[in-house]
Amino acid sequence: MTWQEYLDSRRTESEQELLDFLRIPSISALPAHAADVHRAGEWVAARLSRAGMQNVELMETGGHPVVYADWLHAEDKPTILIYGHFDTQPVDPIELWDNPPFEPVIRERRVYARGASDDKGNMFAPILALDALLKTTEKLPINVKCFFEGQEEIGSPTLPAFIAANREKLACDFVVSADGGQWEEDQPALAIAFKGLCAVQIDVTGPAYDVHSGGYGGAIQNPIHALVSLLDSMRGKDGHILIEGFYERVRPLSAEDRAQIAAVPFNETTYKTKLGIDDVFGEAGYTTLERAWGRPTLELNGIWGGFQGEGTKTVLPSKAHAKITAALLQIRSQGKLSRRSQPTCNATRHPASRSKSMCLKVAPIPT
Ligand SMILES: [Zn+2]
Repeated sequence: MTWQEYLDSRRTESEQELLDFLRIPSISALPAHAADVHRAGEWVAARLSRAGMQNVELMETGGHPVVYADWLHAEDKPTILIYGHFDTQPVDPIELWDNPPFEPVIRERRVYARGASDDKGNMFAPILALDALLKTTEKLPINVKCFFEGQEEIGSPTLPAFIAANREKLACDFVVSADGGQWEEDQPALAIAFKGLCAVQIDVTGPAYDVHSGGYGGAIQNPIHALVSLLDSMRGKDGHILIEGFYERVRPLSAEDRAQIAAVPFNETTYKTKLGIDDVFGEAGYTTLERAWGRPTLELNGIWGGFQGEGTKTVLPSKAHAKITAALLQIRSQGKLSRRSQPTCNATRHPASRSKSMCLKVAPIPT
């Protein structure tokens, strides 16, 4: 039997296994579910053993556990480490679910359950692949290590120390993350790099307390106006980011990069329809995918201040705030993906910050 025939012959059984896996409410954020996260780890370990993987181990980390397994008999061949996570996000808001989140249902060939696409279904696929290869050929073409964790959805707090302590055991030539989606239903995707991220919050303070806009308006600076004008100065009308030095060390897209991006099947009309927009927007001279994948970007994520309730309130607020993130790219001077230093916002050089009537604070937000 070939591995394809093996997979086809076990299709119903594999589907049932996935549904069993999805029934475990392994919510890592909620202490009440810690035992369920552990149980999901045990399920993964048992399934890897049945697949024929070796040295299967449920390892304690000081937080939620990790499942390790390997098969290292492909001499002179590289070693890959397959990553995935068996914990899930919480289920709130529960009233928006059509079915209980841990009682999976299949509708029109899709599985609906908490964790189905992030990441239980995805991490189960390589386990099935290992199973099929080991059962039909009794070997793997390369060396494989599995590293499945139970705390991804809470930022993997105990993993840095765990990885440092198990450096040798986890050593590999490259890592394949089974935590991600397909490009399209019939189009698999292999993401080879990710952008870095940095975030800042800007707080602008004007008068020491909220004052009446009728009594003080026009006589003192309004922090919301100052903030909006500051934010507007960060991006040109054509989408180009105007922050000093923002593009300085960014590696330009090569002809090869552009050719590879252009080769990805992408329908801009479908993209616009799905988003409910009439047109795309972005830096001149780049395609939509080049803008999204090959250029650093800066986006306002939130802005608040003053009165937000229904109706009106004649207030000139004391404070205004904004949150900003920048998605950053490989930079020229280093041969690896790197996080730029926090972007030097021209915030501190904006007239608003020099004005004696306004106090400006720009603080990085940990990401
Ligand atoms: Zn995930």
